Amino acid sequence: MSGLGGRDSRTLSLALFGPAGAGKGTQAQVLRRDLGLEHIATGDMLREERARGTEMGRTVSTYLDQGRLVPDDVIVDLLRRRLEALGEQGFVLDGVPRNLAQAKALEPMLAEMSRPLNLVVVLEVPPEQLAQRLEQRAHQEGRTDDTPEVIAERLRIYREETEPVLDYLAKTVRVLRLDGTKPVAAVSRDLLAELT
Ligand code: AMP
Repeated sequence: MSGLGGRDSRTLSLALFGPAGAGKGTQAQVLRRDLGLEHIATGDMLREERARGTEMGRTVSTYLDQGRLVPDDVIVDLLRRRLEALGEQGFVLDGVPRNLAQAKALEPMLAEMSRPLNLVVVLEVPPEQLAQRLEQRAHQEGRTDDTPEVIAERLRIYREETEPVLDYLAKTVRVLRLDGTKPVAAVSRDLLAELT
């Protein structure tokens, strides 16, 4: 029995938190594969906009390279359009909300859709391990924001702006903290055990 009152896991509204390199994208893919959840990753959407050379892509490019948060109005617009295009299936937010303003903008959007968050999952990994993981990813994926300086900035922003969102959300949603240092399959098992 899950901690979600027996609700159909395919219609869940989830949010994944965790610093860069904690494995959010990887676990979101597992939720997509096993539960059919839509994976909504603002970072991926922004990188796509940039790759396509859209106006938004050009606007956000410097923020991406410097590891700074893209302005909230851009994110909220992007998210609104994505949520509006969503069918009946559940979804997992990855990398959003990233600060209090985004969390407060998201709340009424989800309420209007009658799809408030059911659970917030935090993947916890200590900073020393993150730097190592991200440097590896830099070699594999060639991301422009996986350099040591930018990694440090992204981790600082997570600590200062994103972590406080968890205290805010915890007033209305259950926040589940998982040990993200375990092997990928073990983290997935821990996660799915809560959802199915
Ligand atoms: P990510 O792929 O989630 O690590 O995001 C990569 C970069 O995209 C971040 O360092 C930010 O520059 C930008 N970004 C992604 N999601 C957000 C968000 N919700 N708010 C602001 N900036 C974001």
